[in-house]
Amino acid sequence: MKIERIQAFRQLQPFVDGPYRMSKGRVADAFDSVIVAISADGLTGWGEMAPLGTFYSAAFADGTQAGVKEIAPHLLGEDPRALTRMNRLMDTVFKGHPYVKSAIDMALNDLAARAAGVPLVTMLGGRDGDTADLYKVVTHGEPDAMARNAARFVAEGYGRLQIKVGGDVGGDIDRVAAVADAVPRGTVLFCDANAGWSPFQARQFADQTRNIDYVFEQPTVTIDDNLSVRRSVDKPMVLDESVQSLEDLLEIHRKGVADGVTLKISRLGGVTRTRQMRDLAVDLGLMVTVEDTGGAEIDTAAMAHLSLSTPAEKRLHAIAFHEWVTVRTARNAPPVYGGSRMGVPDGLGLAIDVDIDLLGKPFLDIVRS
Ligand SMILES: [Mg+2]
Repeated sequence: MKIERIQAFRQLQPFVDGPYRMSKGRVADAFDSVIVAISADGLTGWGEMAPLGTFYSAAFADGTQAGVKEIAPHLLGEDPRALTRMNRLMDTVFKGHPYVKSAIDMALNDLAARAAGVPLVTMLGGRDGDTADLYKVVTHGEPDAMARNAARFVAEGYGRLQIKVGGDVGGDIDRVAAVADAVPRGTVLFCDANAGWSPFQARQFADQTRNIDYVFEQPTVTIDDNLSVRRSVDKPMVLDESVQSLEDLLEIHRKGVADGVTLKISRLGGVTRTRQMRDLAVDLGLMVTVEDTGGAEIDTAAMAHLSLSTPAEKRLHAIAFHEWVTVRTARNAPPVYGGSRMGVPDGLGLAIDVDIDLLGKPFLDIVRS
């Protein structure tokens, strides 16, 4: 099996609910998505990488577009099923920038599973359960508005909320208290500071919210600063932005910094690397969320296959990004049940039917000569 054609598209995906707000005025109106199609032997695999915004991570869509154009010609004629070899090849011809390789690797995984005649969830280790719990983000805003949004999400069926904090500590204490008051007991709350605080601020926040039951997510920037917070806070801790490499995961485990990790596919460089880190995190005893920085049906399908192949007792939650955006990329999508659980569609590979007519003109279209 040899790669015969690679196409790539760019799609702006505006948010259904308007601007997405994090602390410190960080705001996005849309995902800026790069979508890759890789074809061989009459089959096509699809991948997607969509940064949340230039403020969120080192990934940005213009960089991805440029990088995909650099890498793609090196892949023509190669066997798309040789996933480890393909990742080594990408790293050889293009140093660093894992996000650039994420959509390509996702398309290779989709194509390899289709060629093997199995759903991707099977190739990633096998399905454990039919659905993964979804969470909903309560974005940063006035305490009253956040409490109203939280109550609405619970009414829609969500049992897990991620509250954005990491701004002014006094205001964030009020925000979390308002949300906790507005939702039923038993609602699972995560307070995600997105690395917005110093250890000093994180400790102030934790001290004033100790009577609220929540999981602390990425209070500060560095692994050692988060360790310093963890030593004085009696809450479960999850790290997200700090998990960029295998070395980070090992350091977090060795130092006992966190009880769980959030693995973002694009930050790690694709499905292959995320699966590797997911399996290691599970074996090390950590709880795991597999998600991404953004995207629509293609990326959400990859998250769903990775989430459902994570052992249920180690799985935290997932997110349904295709419900966030006003555009469509596929005729079907990962099914969502009761507004709060997500499965994988029946079929091979990612098991969605991407509609190429919805993607516009490709910025890249190369064939094997
Ligand atoms: Mg997070």
